[in-house]
Order: sequence, then structure tokens, then C-alpha cells
Amino acid sequence: MSFSHDARNEIARIIPEKRCCQIAELSALVGMRADISPNRDGVLTLYTTMENAAQARKAYTLLKDTFGLSSTVHILQKKRFKKSRIYRVETPLDSAEGSVLLQELGQLGSEIKRQVHWKAIRKNCCKRAFLRGVFTSSGFVNRPEGNYHLEIVFNDSRMAADVLKVMNKLDLDARLTERKNNLLIYIKESERIVDFLRLVEASNALLDFENVRIIKSMRNQVNRQVNCETANLGKTIDASVRQVEMIKRIVARVGVKGISPHLRELAMLRLDHPDSSLKELGLMLDPPLTKSGVAYRMAKLEKVSDTIDQLE
Ligand SMILES: [Zn+2]
Repeated sequence: MSFSHDARNEIARIIPEKRCCQIAELSALVGMRADISPNRDGVLTLYTTMENAAQARKAYTLLKDTFGLSSTVHILQKKRFKKSRIYRVETPLDSAEGSVLLQELGQLGSEIKRQVHWKAIRKNCCKRAFLRGVFTSSGFVNRPEGNYHLEIVFNDSRMAADVLKVMNKLDLDARLTERKNNLLIYIKESERIVDFLRLVEASNALLDFENVRIIKSMRNQVNRQVNCETANLGKTIDASVRQVEMIKRIVARVGVKGISPHLRELAMLRLDHPDSSLKELGLMLDPPLTKSGVAYRMAKLEKVSDTIDQLE
């Protein structure tokens, strides 16, 4: 299964312990995914539509544990796409518990309000639970091996704008954009995706994400180092090629013996070892010489070569 699928299922399985957070999370599921209308018998009913069993179970459990409401779950086959099923959690609201639910979720109207019920998410623990509900409803996170990308799709602009506010109160650096007929909130920065997974307590997804992120950053470091070493090697060889030419010109003009003894040894070593760096040549000299000492003598050889050129 995909990384996103696993992350979403992991998040769907988390049921918060505190009642304040349970209400916050349920308010997200209802605001994002529920509708309210009378059923066939005229009983006011909450219909929460989910894409998979784990999500439906979450809605069912929260309704039961937090408000003592019983639901029935129906699996519907989408007509046009044969393979895809949807899960509809149906909750009759003709009870005291039903009224409490609507009151606590700030849903007392005849239609579901697609907006954040701010009273339910005042505390930080509740904001996090709310985001878990939002992500369970319609979140996606790309596998970390690819581009860093987390998104949540909305079909209501008020809800999208509200959720963006909640996310940015938690410093998630989220952005809002439009794609086809949907609005979507996305996060591109890998650090912020990690923050999001941490906030919603998706421990396994977080661990996988971090592991891949570390491997990627190590690989980048190694690549940078290799590029750097290659560049240095390139420079050494370029310089060496020039030096070899220069020394050959001097030898052709004045002979090996025409070069003064303290420069001659270096000149001969360079001809024998065109791949070596100045530092390495310095170590081959007797007595050995530092890199800057070798560079100084090499500069002297160049002067000799220049003088010869001028004489010609
Ligand atoms: Zn809470």
C-alpha cells in the first residue's frame, strides 16, 4: 500500500483520550464529511460518508464514546467506479444525546456548517485532534522518496480558509491553492510535514518519513563532497599540464643542466609525476618542502620560462 494510505490509516486509528479532543476531532469529521437530513422514517439523521473502513470506524467510535450515540454503517458501491466503495455512518439524532452532539459541535442549523467551530478547538491539544480529523477526512501525503508534499482537499472555501488558519496558528506554513474545482491546502517544506505528522501523532509515518529524509540528505552531502573533490582534482591536473609544458620548453632551450640545481629536482619530479599535487611533490623532494615552498619554486621556474620566451 502507498505511504499516504498507510499514514492516513494510522491517523484514522488514533482515538484521543480526552473528551475535549474527541469533540474537536469529531467536529472536523462532521464539518468535512457529514450531512444532516431526515431519514425515510422522518427521523433527523447524521450521514457521515467515509472512503474506507478505518475512517468509518473512527466516526462510529467517536460518536459512540463521546456522545453515546449508536450508528449503523452502510457500505455503498459507487455506481460509476465498480471497485470503489464508500462507507456511510448513519446516526439518528432523535434523542437527548443527539441534541447534545449538535450543540457541542456548533451544528444547530438545518444544514451542516462547513466551518471551524472555534469554541471546540481553543486548546492546542484540541487543534491537533481537529487536524487529525481533517487529515483523516481528505488528506494526502507523498512518499518521502519523492517530492515533499502534503495536501488536504476541500470542496468548501470557508472550511478551507478556516483550516488554513488553524494550521498556521501551529506554524505549519501551509498554503491554499485551487486545482480544478477543488481547493487544497498544501505543505511543501519537509520540516513542516514532519511537524504535521508529529502534531497528529502519526508515529510510524513520522519515523518512515524521517528515515528517508536522513538518507536523502546524507546522499546529497556525499554528492556535494564528490563534486568538490572532482573540481579540485580538475584544477590540479590543469595546473600540472601547464607546468609540464613550461618545463619542457625550458629543457628544450637550455637543457636539464641549464636549470639551477634547486629548481631542477622539482622540474624533473613534475615531469615524472604529472598527476601529483604540489603538496605531494613537496613530500618527494629531498629535503621535503611545504606546498607553499613548492609553489614558490614553481613560480621561479615560470619566471625562467618567461625570460627565455622574451629572449626568443
Ligand atoms: Zn483537547
